Amino acid sequence: AVTRRPLMAGNWKMNLNHFEANLLLQKLAASLTEKQLTDVECVVLPPFTDLRTVQTAVDGDKLLIGYGAQDLSAHASGAYTGEIAGSMLAKLGCTYVVVGHSERRQYHREDDALVGAKVKAALANGLTPILCVGEGLDVREQGDQVPHCNTQLDGALKGLTAEEVTRVVVAYEPVWAIGTGKTATPEDAQEVCGALRTRLAELYDQATADQVRVLYGGSVKAANVAAIMAKPDVDGALVGGASLDAEEFVQICRFPE
Ligand code: PEP
Repeated sequence: AVTRRPLMAGNWKMNLNHFEANLLLQKLAASLTEKQLTDVECVVLPPFTDLRTVQTAVDGDKLLIGYGAQDLSAHASGAYTGEIAGSMLAKLGCTYVVVGHSERRQYHREDDALVGAKVKAALANGLTPILCVGEGLDVREQGDQVPHCNTQLDGALKGLTAEEVTRVVVAYEPVWAIGTGKTATPEDAQEVCGALRTRLAELYDQATADQVRVLYGGSVKAANVAAIMAKPDVDGALVGGASLDAEEFVQICRFPE
């Protein structure tokens, strides 16, 4: 059987200054044991302005907590005012970067082609992209969530080799469940996470698909994480609101207990 190490990634969004970031990180580190952080991969995704602080704490105290950014530029360098390159994130010790979050797609008009270019930029810099896909309420009400998410997946992975795809994490985030308190049922999460893995097997092969971690995201909290994680194709969670609360995120990372 294939074993995929569970991944709990906390997307802090546009929250926490560097003092607050340090405090939250210290609380996580103090509450999670080495065994817990070995069994479950725990990652934080702060705003760009907190990355140096997080790097200093993680390196200084040799914390077993990973970190990454919430977005990156599709470009390598140059006249792109306000953008951050993948190489800059790698230099700060980031190992992950979120790509194609629904808030970027919605408020910054990111389409599948741009998301695909950002996935490539992440991989080119040794970063693991957490590629977000997910349907809005209108698509869900039509029952078209699987084809919708497959189209987003196809667009974002276009041109990648099987080896490159094994370095991608996919996150299924139904837009209607983000920040709304409405969690998809574990069955809803499994339906799309399973379909995305099937699609990966069609695009590449089963062995490749079996290596890719597929996360669920959308109002995940301590109270619902275990039931979602019990599903065979759900390998972790992308957590927004609940990742800002140290105790809540610690409980999420301890879901196997
Ligand atoms: C997210 O934005 O990635 C997310 C899942 O948010 P929340 O957990 O707050 O719904």
